[in-house]
Amino acid sequence: MMPSSASIDLSRGLVLGTRNAGKLRELAALLTPLGIRCESLDSYPAAVEVEETGTTFAENAALKASQQAIALGTPVLAEDSGLVVDALGGRPGVYSARFAGPESDDQANNRLLLQELADVPDAKRAAHYACHMALAAADGTVVATASGECHGRIAREASGSGGFGYDPLFLVLEYHRSFGEISGEVKSMISHRGRALRAMVATLRQHR
Ligand code: IMP
Repeated sequence: MMPSSASIDLSRGLVLGTRNAGKLRELAALLTPLGIRCESLDSYPAAVEVEETGTTFAENAALKASQQAIALGTPVLAEDSGLVVDALGGRPGVYSARFAGPESDDQANNRLLLQELADVPDAKRAAHYACHMALAAADGTVVATASGECHGRIAREASGSGGFGYDPLFLVLEYHRSFGEISGEVKSMISHRGRALRAMVATLRQHR
């Protein structure tokens, strides 16, 4: 989506609308070398918990960016992402963070994923990560959107301790390794989040 006339000045930095430490680390690692200063919600006591009531990644990304921007009175870049597993009809999808229940953590989610796929053969364990981003101006108007995907397969057991979330179970076929075993630099080159963010920055730079 093209930015509207309410353009955003990236030189003033960007508030990242997430409290997920893994996402923050990856987004900051991508934005800082581009000369874009990142601020986390921790610097903003007025930050709100945005309820993810959407049924698509795109809807939730827009909700998070827009509602946080209005609460803080400043532009916010937000993203919604998750794991889409073919053999599970697209689950956990937008419910990736809460797959094993509302208070679930990465370990519980990964355990449930392995359990649900226990009888699924290797050839049918295809999955992809999806990431949708939205940038909202201070008045809550979404001025730009972008998305990215990364395709792979769900392993039979966890390997590696890098990344976060489902990464130890997500096999990147080109590398014959899980995202848990791949460096952050490589992950950011091929990941759903890296792809979405580069598309977002390119769009913003083009229309500034
Ligand atoms: P959100 O905060 O609602 O967007 O939930 C994102 C959830 O999707 C995370 O908590 C993870 O479970 C999963 N997820 C998204 N991106 C990644 C990733 O890059 N690696 C591992 N898990 C991810």
